[in-house]
Amino acid sequence: MSKLISELAAICGPEYVSDKLVDRVCHTRDCGPSPGGLPTVIVRPRTTEQVCAIVRLANRERTPIFVWGRSSTFIGHGIREGCILLALDLMNRIEKVDFANQTVTVQTGAIWHAVDVELGKRGWELHVPGSGGMFVCTVGGSVAYNSVPHGLAEYGMTGEGVVALEVVLPYGEVIYTGSAANRASADLGFERYANGPDLAGLFIGSCGVFGIITKVTYRIRQRPEAERFAFYGFDSVDTAVDAAQALQRRQVPTHLVQVFGGQKPLGVEGQAFLHLIIRDSRAAADERLAAGHSICAAFNGVRLDEKATERYWVNHMYSWLRNTPPEVYYSDRPYTCPEASAFIPTQRVKDAIRYLLNYEVEHAEEFARYGIRIKCYDVYYSRNAAFLWIDTLYPELDLEAWQYGLKMRADYSEYLWSHYGSPGGILAPLAPHIMPKLGAGYELMKMLKRTLDPNNILNPGILGLGDPSPGPSPDRGGEREEVGR
Ligand SMILES: Cc1cc2nc3c(=O)[nH]c(=O)nc-3n(C[C@H](O)[C@H](O)[C@H](O)COP(=O)(O)OP(=O)(O)OC[C@H]3O[C@@H](n4cnc5c(N)ncnc54)[C@H](O)[C@@H]3O)c2cc1C
Repeated sequence: MSKLISELAAICGPEYVSDKLVDRVCHTRDCGPSPGGLPTVIVRPRTTEQVCAIVRLANRERTPIFVWGRSSTFIGHGIREGCILLALDLMNRIEKVDFANQTVTVQTGAIWHAVDVELGKRGWELHVPGSGGMFVCTVGGSVAYNSVPHGLAEYGMTGEGVVALEVVLPYGEVIYTGSAANRASADLGFERYANGPDLAGLFIGSCGVFGIITKVTYRIRQRPEAERFAFYGFDSVDTAVDAAQALQRRQVPTHLVQVFGGQKPLGVEGQAFLHLIIRDSRAAADERLAAGHSICAAFNGVRLDEKATERYWVNHMYSWLRNTPPEVYYSDRPYTCPEASAFIPTQRVKDAIRYLLNYEVEHAEEFARYGIRIKCYDVYYSRNAAFLWIDTLYPELDLEAWQYGLKMRADYSEYLWSHYGSPGGILAPLAPHIMPKLGAGYELMKMLKRTLDPNNILNPGILGLGDPSPGPSPDRGGEREEVGR
């Protein structure tokens, strides 16, 4: 046993450390298309103190750490060859539900939906219902990535529910953000914007490059009395976007999804579709629904069967976004989604849709050759803008199709950036596309990284702030590097 592994075993206990090949291979990548490197060892701490000790050891040994929530992101982590893989799945306790201050404090590795289910037993819920990955993703990972959640139009991004964080910095010190920094109370806090600058914001969306989130205090609310659903078809994409903007202005929906392209909803006419989900007291929900109906009607929307919307929301059946049975999406071989996505101004959705539909036409020959499928183009509307998902799938086991999938993602990302788009999560493969374009903001982030993490220990390669990742770069057309494979 190497010295590193025996020291990790001394910190966490030997049963929580593994250098078995099978475990290491199973921790090389997320749900996205990029292969990562093979970690040297997997370690599963249970306490913040153990995380601190591991970080100090990694600094001493100059061995990078990769922080692993449940690895449910789709973009590609770029896990470093030879790293210590810090798996946070055992740090999953709900530490305190504070109904008086409307917060819950959890260890970072708690699964989003599991926390929501516990709160639901008392008639409460987390501030956002979670992303589509809510059944697998951790609270800490979702905050670190700042996932785009359901309920975006009313509740905002995942990070907006954060009240306070406990974070282990890259040199092994622990900090508490907001009011939690006052340790006179043993709790994690009740107000984010206390004690000066919003330090929680530094870690939200930073994908673990500045610190390891070990606890999260998050807003909770009583479950609303009523949920209402509406589903509308429009004969043009532009009209659907105009209707969506009118709905945003009146703050009608809790969640507003536009579907276009790809598989059309079964048995309905139209070019673009809007799903409206409204959550509120009964009276207010009815009033908002009535406003939604009149706005959609004013834009010549055709009212469709809202059961499709309800199945999507209540049963989490994505296929019901388009009123389509799940088997339509499955085939005899695995497909992967090299997801490209971005925030764009609402009106820009019109141009983006034209671009995507043209892209399909212009690349019809390659799409046919590589068996590319369009699962969907969806838009989650926020309060004032739009988050566009481009889910173009390629057959996972075909190397040429895989490279083509990454090229498509690079094309889409370039288009979105040059048309006011800004991606949500940025992991290793998107970083070379996006980060240098941030100019002085990127330089500031690099400066912060160098200051907080002089040994470049924590998630190097992610966000392009440390060394380049071992994964493939879309700039090279997704050329595969034989790293750890
Ligand atoms: C079926 C499905 C549907 C999905 N739908 C959506 C969706 O609607 N919207 C959306 O945004 N995403 C979606 N996702 C992606 C995914 O759910 C989220 O990105 C998720 O929030 C990531 O959580 P995780 O625990 O798996 O984090 P990971 O993937 O493990 O980590 C994400 C990043 O944060 C870092 N990290 C993890 N934990 C910590 C920590 N404690 N401290 C510091 N850094 C950390 C990691 O190193 C990595 O860089 C979906 C995924 C699936 C499988």
